[in-house]
Amino acid sequence: MEDHKISMDKIVSLCKRRGFVFQSSEIYGGQAGAWDYGPLGVELKKNIQNAWWKEMTQLHDNIVGLDAAILMHPRVWEASGHVANFSDPLVDCKQCKMRFRADTMDQKALEEKKCPACGGELTEPRAFNLMFKTHIGPAEDSASIVYLRPETAQGIYVNYKNIAQSNRMKIPFGIAQVGKAFRNEIVTKNFIFRTCEFEQMEMQFFVKPGEDDKWFQYWREQRWAFYEKYGVNMNKMRWYHHEKLAHYAKDAYDIEYEFPMGFSELEGVHNRTDFDLTRHTEYSGKDMSYIDQDDNNNKYIPYIIETSAGLTRNLLMFLCDAYEEQNLAKEGEPEDYRTVLHFHPKIAPVTVAVLPLMKKDGLAELAKEIQNDLKEDFVTDYDQSGAIGKRYRRQDEIGTPFCITVDYDSKEDGTVTLRFRDSMEQVRVRREELSARIHSEIKNYKRV
Ligand code: ATP
Repeated sequence: MEDHKISMDKIVSLCKRRGFVFQSSEIYGGQAGAWDYGPLGVELKKNIQNAWWKEMTQLHDNIVGLDAAILMHPRVWEASGHVANFSDPLVDCKQCKMRFRADTMDQKALEEKKCPACGGELTEPRAFNLMFKTHIGPAEDSASIVYLRPETAQGIYVNYKNIAQSNRMKIPFGIAQVGKAFRNEIVTKNFIFRTCEFEQMEMQFFVKPGEDDKWFQYWREQRWAFYEKYGVNMNKMRWYHHEKLAHYAKDAYDIEYEFPMGFSELEGVHNRTDFDLTRHTEYSGKDMSYIDQDDNNNKYIPYIIETSAGLTRNLLMFLCDAYEEQNLAKEGEPEDYRTVLHFHPKIAPVTVAVLPLMKKDGLAELAKEIQNDLKEDFVTDYDQSGAIGKRYRRQDEIGTPFCITVDYDSKEDGTVTLRFRDSMEQVRVRREELSARIHSEIKNYKRV
């Protein structure tokens, strides 16, 4: 019997089959640690990003956005500690040349200095810096070194004064940013979970020292509520409290999700103290302190609470969380499975599919007209090929929450069938009421 439990292989295969994610440079044998997002993948990614952006900026009066450059002055990464500290301890097998991260590999094998793959002798662990280094300009000398940013956060820190001044922001306030980050990860496995090129959604919240614990708690609650709001199965989420803290942190929690390979980090909420701004003051010679007009012009370096989520890792989480192989057979009947992605309608790459029951008798034309009516409001799809049941299954498999079927009655009485992905229930709706009805269904959506 087939196994109907979710596995990473099934997610990878669905992603390729339906155009969510492809291996980078596949025709050349692929590029390790890099993936390309196909038509449905970009829609999904954009929707997750928009949901996060709305949550942060639109729903919080005191948070504004930024889009900083990927290439920054190299001193930024000295100040941040990345040049000195941003490394993984690596060991190599002298025999089979496999490479492992000493902090995540089997500790017994590490102690015995034996390769977990072939039993060969392992080297001593050595620090391997994760930043991609390149050169700007024609000369490849040390003066021309630049790094591809390994996190988006630093672009926010170096701009915090520009933003505070130009936008008259008063502490407490936050800056949100979504963008690419790069890490020379040695072990890139589990599909898009850990890649060399990825996207982050980071929000840095600037607070008065002494108020940091309160805001840290606040942001932990906010981030948890975000995933709940977008229909994630919260039984698969948990908090992980860091015992060993990064050099900049006072306190740190991760939100972990139960991916097919087990619970793993999805997002970090960190109290980064005044570490980064103090260091930038030292390294740049520019005073990064804040004058608090609401507190007798008191001058201080703000503390920073950071919420740092992977956008591409979120995309994998939403895919895994939505995935179900559902047996539709009634008791006594042979098994009949449909693959369905239960995306929240605001996350789903396609919101509405319009399907004429038949191509002929003017139904296709009418369905196209209805699709055109809806295009301004929703991402739509149109499909006229194959039996209607098969077309529903195709939409279920990409997570389309609403299908509209145009049939012979539609021509007579102006109504269509609206089918719901999760319950598979169908209702008749007047054509002119479709848009309002779908809007209201999206607003009131609850995952069952
Ligand atoms: P890990 O321990 O998994 O390497 P980290 O603790 O170094 O991650 P952070 O530096 O806190 O991660 O990055 C914040 C977020 O960015 C992570 O929670 C994750 O969602 C995402 N992220 C980090 N590294 C990668 C990567 N190589 N590929 C995809 N997403 C990543």
